[in-house]
Amino acid sequence: MRVTDEEKKRAESVTQFPEILQQAGIRTIHKGRHMGRWHYNGFDEVTTLQPHSQFWKLYEKYFRGLRNRNKALGKILDGMYWYTKKVITALEGESPDDLAELLDTLRPDEQFYSTLHLMDTHMPYSANEDVAAEYLQRFDYDGIKMEKLIEQQGDGPWLLDQRANLIEDDNNTPTIEEVKAWYDASVTHADEKIGRLIKELKERGMYDDTLLIVLSDHGESLDEHGIFFDHHGLYDQTVQIPLVVKPPHREKFDPGTTVKTFTQITDVAPTVLDYMNVGAEAGNFDGATLRPLIEGDDDGWTEREAILVEEAHTQRRRALRTYEHKYIQSLEDDLECRYCNVVHGAEEELYDLAEDPEELKNIVDENLEAREELSEITEALVASYELREATDDQSDVTYEDEDIVADRLEALGYK
Ligand SMILES: [Zn+2]
Repeated sequence: MRVTDEEKKRAESVTQFPEILQQAGIRTIHKGRHMGRWHYNGFDEVTTLQPHSQFWKLYEKYFRGLRNRNKALGKILDGMYWYTKKVITALEGESPDDLAELLDTLRPDEQFYSTLHLMDTHMPYSANEDVAAEYLQRFDYDGIKMEKLIEQQGDGPWLLDQRANLIEDDNNTPTIEEVKAWYDASVTHADEKIGRLIKELKERGMYDDTLLIVLSDHGESLDEHGIFFDHHGLYDQTVQIPLVVKPPHREKFDPGTTVKTFTQITDVAPTVLDYMNVGAEAGNFDGATLRPLIEGDDDGWTEREAILVEEAHTQRRRALRTYEHKYIQSLEDDLECRYCNVVHGAEEELYDLAEDPEELKNIVDENLEAREELSEITEALVASYELREATDDQSDVTYEDEDIVADRLEALGYK
């Protein structure tokens, strides 16, 4: 997966949200796992590359060709990789995900903005073995051998092959149910890290004054719609994400309240700016501050009837999510997914979410009126988004670490 020159130019020509905070004199820190280079604009401090990631880079450089040429040898090399990774991880600990070190460096009353990027719930899922084993016993997972699935899917689909190799399993043949238990255990693992962060904030007397937002950038399809342990497709498994907000002003909100309304990731930046008194108007944002929702000010929030989502990597599709329906349309003639070598959905899909929340029964042919209406709303929403052009004087953008980043993304299962 390569970012195009045009995309790099656009990313660099837009003022990014941490840059606005940095310019306002707020200390900005990125902790946890690495992100794409262009996400670092505006950060005073960023995490250094973890030793096991550096090891992966070396492994990829010297062994990838060999591994791909000979499957038996590949398995031995992969086994060596996982073993060495385990040793390195045991030695280095989990400190890159830990904010305690950062909190110790803050001066009293210093305003800071920090991201803590956890990757535990991202393939390869990072979980505690015992917890995964316990979940496997406790919950009723269904599944079959991963190898069997690969056979069923025909001629070496890249994604499944990649996933089978990425599971930390001695014989590389976990069952689907084992991987699902691993995934659930990885959610618990991430949850524990957030719990530790809250404990650290409380111990330092910082919790009440801190705005804490927990969210994910996508969900995960565990086997739904023929998408295995990945996050493409515009079904709710992937596009519906957790969003938990703990505002800094305890007296103005009711803890534990769930607000049922459409929000989007684009609302996060205006929310942070609002709470930090930097002013939501400081940037040109597609989203809106969530503060009225958090503080129960219904008049301050404009209700959204529908959300528009798009994907363009493994397949080009666009979807409209309303409270009642999901309407999905393909934007290309070839419907076959480039990762899975299968067709995940028809050219046009319509689901009644009250009747069919799993999005299994496509009712587009029987509901032409709803299709027409949803298609019109989709067009109107698409037209409402203004294309932000890169400025003409922006020369080509190159990042020194592009090859490293490409390797890292492939290691995470992207191609
Ligand atoms: Zn696919």
